Amino acid sequence: MATFGTLSDRLTETFRNLRTKGKLSPADVDGTVREIRRALLDADVALSVVKDFTATVRERALGDEVSRALNPAQQVVQIVNEELVGILGGQQRRLQFAKNPPTVIMLAGLQGSGKTTFAGKLAKMLEKDGHTPLLVAADLQRPNAVNQLQVVAEQAGATIYAPQPGNGVGDPVRVARDGVEQARRAQHDVVIIDTAGRLGVDAELMKQAADIRAATEPDEVLFVIDAMIGQDAVNTAKAFQDGVDFTGVVLSKLDGDARGGAALSVASMTGRPIIYASTGEGLDDLEPFHPDRMASRILD
Ligand code: GDP
Repeated sequence: MATFGTLSDRLTETFRNLRTKGKLSPADVDGTVREIRRALLDADVALSVVKDFTATVRERALGDEVSRALNPAQQVVQIVNEELVGILGGQQRRLQFAKNPPTVIMLAGLQGSGKTTFAGKLAKMLEKDGHTPLLVAADLQRPNAVNQLQVVAEQAGATIYAPQPGNGVGDPVRVARDGVEQARRAQHDVVIIDTAGRLGVDAELMKQAADIRAATEPDEVLFVIDAMIGQDAVNTAKAFQDGVDFTGVVLSKLDGDARGGAALSVASMTGRPIIYASTGEGLDDLEPFHPDRMASRILD
């Protein structure tokens, strides 16, 4: 697997060594745990997450469940798998819809994370399921952002609400609020609000995102994060959690060379579920995120 290459290769190698032995000694366990630790660090998983993870695996690997197991190595593999699935959220978490439409979904994330592309992908996916999403262009920071969303909306066959001259131009909070009103009027059952990206974590834009959140009371605030971001994932995710308190995560660019550390770090540090995996530049390259599949992909 390209995505988790380093991590999976490493673990596979470690487990291959384990499988050749009948019974695990504490030294075996320590050796294995060291390999897991190295593999996770290589995969850019945050250090604190790695520490917690390996401590848990070590404790369980030295415990009764392994010493009683017919195949201790396999049992350790099972433990690693379970712990990975646990950190990645356990069950698949679906998008939550409002009891009274429209369902409001707000997007947040760094510039270039894949937010606008995701807006189009989500609109297309929802349309396939019979929804009638309205895309709202509340990213007024970048001159071309509204155009870009327009292009994506057109490709997705979705309607867009963009600021008109004299109608709240320059005020993204008002555009977002008016967009939700427009959805209500025109009976769109879902509203997807694209907000301004930023190059780094930026207090002013974070406040703007928080204001949009307060004004539109979204059912979901999805934080889009580039899986290639590596060690920065933790700080970025933390800043967005503090700033806008997102309800779910979209992991983008999983088709690239990302080693997947971001998935583990973000899920573990924020406790928020990863809901979608974005796997390409095309509007059909979007999948629901499955913790168990991702864990076995890491272990395969
Ligand atoms: P935004 O600034 O957060 O709105 O990011 P964009 O949606 O404009 O995406 C930035 C770049 O990443 C664009 O060139 C997209 O085509 C590309 N992109 C977005 N999502 C993915 C993905 O899942 N995989 C790949 N390979 N590229 C992506």
